[in-house]
Amino acid sequence: MTEQERYQQIDMPFYKAEVDPILPDPVLDFHTHVWTREQWSSVPAEDGSPGGKYMVVNTEYPVEKLLADAGRILPGRQYRAVCFGYPCPAANIDKTNDAVARLEKRDNLFPLMLAGKGLADREEIEQRLQKGRFYGYKVFLNWFGDDYGRIAVEDMLSPVEMELADRYRLIVLLHVPRSDRLADPEIQAGVAALSRDYPGARIVLAHCGRCYTPDRMAKAVKAIKNLNNVYLDTSMVMDPTVIQILLEEIGPSRLLFATDFPVPAMRGRRVYVLDHWVDLVLPGYAESGYRVQSDNFRASFMVYEIIQAIRRAAERTGLPAGELKALFHDNGMKLLEQVERPGV
Ligand SMILES: [Zn+2]
Repeated sequence: MTEQERYQQIDMPFYKAEVDPILPDPVLDFHTHVWTREQWSSVPAEDGSPGGKYMVVNTEYPVEKLLADAGRILPGRQYRAVCFGYPCPAANIDKTNDAVARLEKRDNLFPLMLAGKGLADREEIEQRLQKGRFYGYKVFLNWFGDDYGRIAVEDMLSPVEMELADRYRLIVLLHVPRSDRLADPEIQAGVAALSRDYPGARIVLAHCGRCYTPDRMAKAVKAIKNLNNVYLDTSMVMDPTVIQILLEEIGPSRLLFATDFPVPAMRGRRVYVLDHWVDLVLPGYAESGYRVQSDNFRASFMVYEIIQAIRRAAERTGLPAGELKALFHDNGMKLLEQVERPGV
């Protein structure tokens, strides 16, 4: 089966039957990456970095490819996206931020700069925010892959970044560390401290605090329940029970639809086995940690599985149609509109 045959015979019938009826127009995707090889100083999957094969991706993912993927996977929708570069030690941070800043000229893209503890002083950050007209930060991951055992939230963000975020109501998109993720009490304390000390900052926890499994989310959700400036993006979360727990405990208004392009342009589904996620995908992708490839099942784009998880959870909890719609666009747009971009 060719790519185009697969698209027409499997992807599009599924999209039209299951996804199209619930997806509003426009859609805001709160977590996407763009990069080109020249923004990487090394390739972790090739240079033997510890954890370098945790999530292997193609080193070319320019904005044209992001928009082409979104157009092909979500046809008939105006697509808006919060976007940023490759947030790992292999990135050349200045080159990445310069390239992402140029995206601001397109009115459907909302760039975040890579920022994190010790990377730049206050003046540099403020200048960069102004020059690049950024909406906030994607917090830099100062480790490779799953080599994050002893890191705390306080090792990733300092008052230098957070005081500016507080003042300008910036988005602070944070991928929490450690193997227990947001279920780890120390990570919970770190997030709570950011929320309390910097009430103006809009703290968005990537991948629902990396709680891809219901058990982890059940342990995590109480810690953020009353933190009103803490939001969750749904990127790569495909388990409906995870979303159901969030809808039941904190409601829909702090949930933001997100993909994590380029990753969920793969065909397959993120499942869990014991206590860890596994990406079950069709053949043809790079070898990667926790990625199982097989051709003996049907699959479509992982983006659809994220949307299906949200739909199933919304049905179980009786979420009104308008609130479901807002989760795909308005909840996130509200945050972006509230950012007081320095110099704009
Ligand atoms: Zn990401």
